[in-house]
Amino acid sequence: MASALRESRLLIVGLGLIGGSLAAALRQAGVGRHDHNDAGMGGPVESTEILACDPDPDEIARGIEMGLIDRGDTALEALVEGASLVVLAVPVLAMAGVMEQLAGCLGRAAPDVVVTDVGSTKAAIREAAVAAFGRMPANLVLGHPIAGSEKSGVAAADSELYRRHKVILTPEPDTDPAATARVRALWECCGAEVLEMAVERHDQVLARTSHLPHLLAFSLVDTLARQDERLEIFRYAAGGFRDFTRIAGSDPVMWRDIFIANRDAVLASLDDFEAGVARLRRAVERGDSDAMLATFDRASHARHYFESLLNQTSYQAEYQMQQHGKLRYRVSPGGGVTGRIRVPGDKSISHRAIMLGALAEGVTEVKGFLEGEDSLATLQAFREMGVAVEGPHQGRVTVHGVGMHGLKPPSGPLYVGNAGTAMRLFAGLLAGQAFDTELTGDVSLTKRPMGRVADPLREMG
Ligand code: NAP
Repeated sequence: MASALRESRLLIVGLGLIGGSLAAALRQAGVGRHDHNDAGMGGPVESTEILACDPDPDEIARGIEMGLIDRGDTALEALVEGASLVVLAVPVLAMAGVMEQLAGCLGRAAPDVVVTDVGSTKAAIREAAVAAFGRMPANLVLGHPIAGSEKSGVAAADSELYRRHKVILTPEPDTDPAATARVRALWECCGAEVLEMAVERHDQVLARTSHLPHLLAFSLVDTLARQDERLEIFRYAAGGFRDFTRIAGSDPVMWRDIFIANRDAVLASLDDFEAGVARLRRAVERGDSDAMLATFDRASHARHYFESLLNQTSYQAEYQMQQHGKLRYRVSPGGGVTGRIRVPGDKSISHRAIMLGALAEGVTEVKGFLEGEDSLATLQAFREMGVAVEGPHQGRVTVHGVGMHGLKPPSGPLYVGNAGTAMRLFAGLLAGQAFDTELTGDVSLTKRPMGRVADPLREMG
């Protein structure tokens, strides 16, 4: 993989956890390493020089000692000469100052230099870039590795940090595609999977999935730590507390920066969260068992569902292996079958059973539901539209129907995985609702034609 990287001189600005881990991952992939005999990694990769700039000379010395960088300096101007790729890995609020310095000396870099960053928020960094360079330069590709830890400093550098993790790039319409390709190659060389999305979408998604959970963890630990009996409380804290609050040990300065830089998106996700907590509070206050069960059941299933998505288990993983030709099945005839067997439920009927149950008034009991990824996605979609669904437990599902006009707008796009049936049935079903919904699916589904459903719906208004 390292052979895709064709950089002569890589300059990392900010040699901390993220910058140091980048250097460590590149070294591990054979980049700029002169002391190995692996013929497969020859050529320009070996001749890549890795330099680092950091205000702390001890961090630079440590980086050299750890074999991560070839040389470094505390002054940016001293290192820019001939750099082909510059990675800004400083705290979010330090980006503006670093970009201003860079704008003053980037002329001394290689003629085709590309600049990227790793900051946890993107809109504020784009603003800083426009202020420093006068506009978004075509060779600046903003990015964010979705990997990290609660540690900081180069001593915590981890060559495996990015492996099988996602890196989001947020190129602008004017960004040079060649520059984006080079930043993509950098991260792929570290074993990461690279995605692209718009700056605004990145900040909204990260506010929900990363910034809000950190805010809650900081707040919970702080609230408990202020209480007098805190020693007792922490002594009895079990695994749940530990799991939930691990991220409260993260770097306070880094998180202060993130909440300042992504204020609006964080406040919007906090509003949604507060509304949810208020609903749950009312349910607890009133001893409303149905409301509590509905929320916990929805959350519990959503958690399991996302886990399987994240691990790319079952169908998707196998499908991808087959696509790459790594998996072959040889089927030989077996013996006869005696006794009773139960065949799995049918997928198309499983989707429809849930859809009809959700739109019906009253409770629908389903038996023989196929607990496959696609039908689970349909269940999850209805949960996101406010339908209480119990199960599935061994093929049994109970759907508490809300009637034809009882669905609620989901808070984001509905993901239906690989299910063409669900996508097409949902298109018709949701066209008749009083709210807008975005439907999305996996890579293969989004390539399939939807015109034969969308066109007639459009013609019907
Ligand atoms: P870190 O370990 O504290 O490293 C940041 C480094 O940048 C420090 O060595 C710091 O030096 C240096 N620095 C500060 N101002 C600088 C300047 N003007 N010029 C050059 N170097 C400067 O923090 P990190 O966790 O690596 O975070 C770096 C970036 O990655 C942040 O933008 C963060 O949002 C992003 N990020 C972090 C994570 C994570 O989980 N940690 C994940 C994804 C992205 P001093 O310590 O001497 O100030």
